[in-house]
Amino acid sequence: MSKKDRSVFPPLPDPLPVSVIDNHTHVGTDREGQEQKVNDQGKKKYPLLIEGQREAMAHSGIKHAITVGCEVPDLKDVIELASTVKEFSAAIAIHPNEAALHAGVREIAPDGLEPNVLDHHRDYDLDAAVALVAELATSEHVVAIGETGLDYFRTGDEGKGAQQESFRAHIALAKELSLPLQIHDRDAHEDTVRILLEEGAPERTVFHCFSGDRELAGILNENGWYASFAGTVTFPKNEYLREALMEMREELILVETDAPYLTPHPHRGKPNAPYLANLTVRAMATNKGVALDTFCERLLSNANGVYFP
Ligand SMILES: [Zn+2]
Repeated sequence: MSKKDRSVFPPLPDPLPVSVIDNHTHVGTDREGQEQKVNDQGKKKYPLLIEGQREAMAHSGIKHAITVGCEVPDLKDVIELASTVKEFSAAIAIHPNEAALHAGVREIAPDGLEPNVLDHHRDYDLDAAVALVAELATSEHVVAIGETGLDYFRTGDEGKGAQQESFRAHIALAKELSLPLQIHDRDAHEDTVRILLEEGAPERTVFHCFSGDRELAGILNENGWYASFAGTVTFPKNEYLREALMEMREELILVETDAPYLTPHPHRGKPNAPYLANLTVRAMATNKGVALDTFCERLLSNANGVYFP
């Protein structure tokens, strides 16, 4: 982040009374050619870089973050970052939308976008991509398998089979390695829950960027699955997420940024970064009616229990 770029980030919030863990973010290392990457909408992608992030986290009370690599070209990068920067650990998987592309699915999805097929989708079929995750996940710096799951918004009917196959393979991998599982569930609550129950969920299962209502929260409570809330829980129109938060058992609640996306209120539209988990934590504590320090302690011990047991 240059000085100029930093000015577009929201200001540093007051520190939290107890430091917490951002359990899902996408922070990368600065590497040559990175700016040439394009995202699945064919737009240029500028991943959030590590420079400046540690200081912002330390100031804001975010002691650690789990950075997620979920496309083949990013897997080694997040592990490298986690092995060189002590405030970071890594999670790796093949994202559900990537799974469809690795499996050769080329369809226009409900979001109306053309599939963006890149070299790595052609170089690795789905089995080979998941095998690469399995190989790299044995690194001591990998603390979770994720994000995997189902995305019925960005992938259409043809891709559903590939996503489900990939999801099942990642569930098996998490169990084999005794690692927690981070789930991406977009417009696919029913199938996500069904497949978890069919396969037998890993002992520590996290719904990343929880997007369900009170009813799904009840299902998570019943099964002992974690709900990780992102900036979306602070958006004024998302009352259903705050209802779900109220429903969740306190020992199953986590916080994340999913940066660089989903910047918490009132900074929507600006770039997101792990230090801004601070704002989401404050909003959640207020919503729960719990003292901020008590709530932070709870979040920290929950995250430690999932990722650093
Ligand atoms: Zn994510």
